[in-house]
Amino acid sequence: MDTIIDEIRDRDPEQHEFHQAVQEVVESVKPVLDRNIEYRQQAILRRITEPERVLMFRVPWMDDDGQVQVNRGFRVEMNSALGPYKGGLRFHASVNLGIIKFLAFEQVFKNSLTTLSMGGGKGGSDFDPKGKSDNEVMRFCQSFMSELYRHIGPNTDVPAGDIGVGAREIGYLFGMYKRLKNEFTGVLTGKSLAWGGSLIRPEATGYGAVYFAAEMLHTRGDSLENKGCLVSGSGNVAQFTTEKIIQLGGRVLTLSDSSGYIFDEQGIDRKKLDYVKELKNIRRGRISEYAEQYPSAVYTPVNPTLDHNPLWGHKADCGFPSATQNEINGVDAQHLVDNGVRLICEGANMPTTPDAVDIFLDHRICYAPGKAANAGGVAVSGLEMAQNSMRLSWPRKEVDDRLKQIMKSIHRTCLEAAEEYGNPGNYVAGANIAGFVKVVHAMLDQGLV
Ligand code: NDP
Repeated sequence: MDTIIDEIRDRDPEQHEFHQAVQEVVESVKPVLDRNIEYRQQAILRRITEPERVLMFRVPWMDDDGQVQVNRGFRVEMNSALGPYKGGLRFHASVNLGIIKFLAFEQVFKNSLTTLSMGGGKGGSDFDPKGKSDNEVMRFCQSFMSELYRHIGPNTDVPAGDIGVGAREIGYLFGMYKRLKNEFTGVLTGKSLAWGGSLIRPEATGYGAVYFAAEMLHTRGDSLENKGCLVSGSGNVAQFTTEKIIQLGGRVLTLSDSSGYIFDEQGIDRKKLDYVKELKNIRRGRISEYAEQYPSAVYTPVNPTLDHNPLWGHKADCGFPSATQNEINGVDAQHLVDNGVRLICEGANMPTTPDAVDIFLDHRICYAPGKAANAGGVAVSGLEMAQNSMRLSWPRKEVDDRLKQIMKSIHRTCLEAAEEYGNPGNYVAGANIAGFVKVVHAMLDQGLV
């Protein structure tokens, strides 16, 4: 196993996030490999860590000043053992191949946990929609799709949104796909309701993460009622995480963006959340404006000289990191533990660094890794695909009930796998093992392809 990790590091030394994601999974599945000699004989680890296909392409587009801009597009089709590749597109300046590979790798196990028939993939671009006009975003999306359309399709690869890709971007991408292929089909999820989207898809990742947290607390005879919660981010996942926490009686104290965070000691209620949705989704403003609107809140800008994020230094019962990868480091984790945190539930993908994960596990904090806790988004994307295939749309309650059941089932699956392989109560081990075993069985059934 060490050899494989070394090989991956030597082969692509700059892909740090990918190495981090692989290392965590490989460490978790060691007891599975020890029990199954066939997995080793069939070089399963080498195969599962190598993408089936990597696409990289030029995305030229013209800005509003008539200047030509060039970005880089990616799609990593990681594993199709369980179904068509499925996973979001991320548009953010920080995007590179290593980040897309880590996200695609995580997606394989996450999709496996949902029990739906979906392989894993991820894509995106180093294009940053922040500060761009709608026309610029549209031209970029059209150029991006004019290459991607060759590689995707409802039975091949079905992208969705992620950071920087919301309803507006999905609309432009879908429009260009339809024009190029002359077919109206479920090739993207996260579509608007009027043209093939599913109810509850926008809410699904955030709601799902809170259902997972509620389930973790429920098994310990507790609930979210009156719990103080720190939420990071202020995009799709953070907004609907906040909404569901409020509905379940918890108090959300923080939100953030890449410029800074707000702490509202009175809590973010429904009215304040409506303001955040309007601020971020319609006006595309910054979270600092929240503190100008509500004097009970204090805004703290990001200080790049600090070795920690002060958002995680506030006293609270629960943490819901919902912005980006590696946003909780060891110092942050220690602050959370010292302040008595009881539960960490990841809405974002890999928001916790490995040393921080160790601190949570050593202190027996209820810690839910993203690949289990944020699987609600892709699960409802899977339900959107099912509705598109049937040309039907299910009522809100039906989708929400299915989402709840899926999150409960993932929770149970994690605990059972952790128990079976000698790590009771460890959701990291449970999620990695359960996700891995199902994919590996399918790969072995399908031969050396
Ligand atoms: P959005 O683009 O809607 O929101 C992202 C939020 O995180 C914004 O507030 C953004 O601030 C902040 N953010 C992004 N990058 C950074 C950074 N480098 N440092 C600090 N803050 C940052 O994305 P989503 O809410 O959809 O995604 C958030 C996380 O959830 C990601 O990790 C994503 O992979 C994960 N996820 C999303 C799913 C979905 O269905 N959307 C499904 C499963 C996981 P700013 O506006 O300043 O950039």
